[in-house]
Amino acid sequence: MPDFEVGRHLYRFPGGLRLRHHKQIACRDPLTRPELPRALYLPLKQHQGPVGEVLVEPGAQVRKGQPLSRATSDREVPVHAPTSGTVAMIRRWPVSWPPGSEADCLVLEPDGEEDWCKRMPLADWRRAEPEALIEHVRAAGLAGLGGAMFPTAAKLRGDWKRVHTLILNGSECEPYISCDEMLMRERPAAIVEGGLILARALGAERVVIAIEDQMGAVSQSLGMALAAHDPEDRCQVVAVTTIYPEGGEKQLIQVLTGAEVPHDGLPQDLGVVCLNVATAAAARDAVIDGTPLIERIVTISGPGIEHPRNLIALLGTPVHELLQAAGGVQGDIDRLVLGGPMSGLPLASDRIPVTKGSNCILVLRRQDVEREQPVMPCINCGECVRVCPASLLPQELYKYIEAGNYEQAESLNLYDCIECGCCAHVCPSHIPLVDWYRHGKGVLRERGIEDARAQNARQRFEAREKRITEEKEQRRRKREQRERKLKSGGEARSEVQAAIERARAKSGRQNRPGKTGASDEGGEQ
Ligand code: SF4
Ligand code: SF4
Repeated sequence: MPDFEVGRHLYRFPGGLRLRHHKQIACRDPLTRPELPRALYLPLKQHQGPVGEVLVEPGAQVRKGQPLSRATSDREVPVHAPTSGTVAMIRRWPVSWPPGSEADCLVLEPDGEEDWCKRMPLADWRRAEPEALIEHVRAAGLAGLGGAMFPTAAKLRGDWKRVHTLILNGSECEPYISCDEMLMRERPAAIVEGGLILARALGAERVVIAIEDQMGAVSQSLGMALAAHDPEDRCQVVAVTTIYPEGGEKQLIQVLTGAEVPHDGLPQDLGVVCLNVATAAAARDAVIDGTPLIERIVTISGPGIEHPRNLIALLGTPVHELLQAAGGVQGDIDRLVLGGPMSGLPLASDRIPVTKGSNCILVLRRQDVEREQPVMPCINCGECVRVCPASLLPQELYKYIEAGNYEQAESLNLYDCIECGCCAHVCPSHIPLVDWYRHGKGVLRERGIEDARAQNARQRFEAREKRITEEKEQRRRKREQRERKLKSGGEARSEVQAAIERARAKSGRQNRPGKTGASDEGGEQ
């Protein structure tokens, strides 16, 4: 048994900030679906990991829910048709990550029929083998809907030590983002059932649904769902104090267990797995309805949008369609951000499509964006250290990266930085610290790729050298063999020659006079 009980006591994580919530403006209306877009742009890669094999060609007619790509491992995640229609083409199209980039997207033109393919629900999930549940989750194309987009099947099937608790993360602590809150209000039963399905897949005994203490309506709706769908009383709802970024996986686990996920370890090392509440609802839909992941809730909010709200968007819907569905933009728009104001990524275009990890589109006007302040030198005030939830030394990381000493930054655990933005938020010198960390990680990633390439080239060179040496050696051995044969052939020939000569000599002796023999009879007479 674990040496802690998840959720019995609440603990604190280091640092963090109390921020204004700004969530309710998007929670006044129920969830709605925007009109079907004229075209959907489906990136083939909407997860962390390699792309699967594409199954359709341009011109193909597809049905709603039909797989468009196939996964051959848990790290690949298939993409499905969000509606029926025609695959018009596969083309490069702007995507959110990496910022400013383009990627291969399937362009699907809907026919408006919503013609579903045959769905394959699992008959009785309460008796199903964990393996069958994981296969359903994998085939349905689930990747973490909290934003990390890690393939869910890989998280469930890992070779972990025993997992005793599944934590469902519903504490979306970043201002403005309210898609999970709306999901928990409107589909609490799906979260409870999905949580129990995932717990069975993991072999976990308990499910803890973590929500924020400011989500009163959610606590009520989840409470009713537990009464109806959790007969064995395996799930519990825990309200955690709203401090940013307690929705971070490591921070939430620390709040609920008091234990820290090891620096180079995983939550599974503590016997827990953490998944987003929306991932749980999607797992329920995959297993009970046989429905793949083809849509998600997206918050459209911020002072620059006319009617902030939460929309159920088909994957592949361009952002501008969602902005229209939320009444359009208002004022002098400065930027669109994917995610929240602290850790979100500025979007380079409103043509960028919704993917499995798109939780919020924030619309900011010029007056909402912090005035560009002149960046001043670091004054070593230590404010960034005080608020860092990952117990890092943000000012040291910054100094090393700025000096181009990326390895030193890495040795100070740069990769533990969750890019929450707390340090930059409090920095009196207005240093864009998170930009520096992203840059540093990018350089290290590139170097890693370069190192891997160099290693591959080295391995190829060594393999070639080895092959050439082996071939030379083989040739040498063959030559020696041949020579030996020739030599032994020559020796044999000389023995024969010697025998012939001996025979001739003998025969000559016998032909001399005074000797008798056969040749005498037929000799000179
Ligand atoms: S908050 Fe800014 S100025 Fe203060 S130590 Fe950190 S980086 Fe330097
Ligand atoms: S962005 Fe990184 S370094 Fe800054 S406070 Fe967050 S975790 Fe710490």
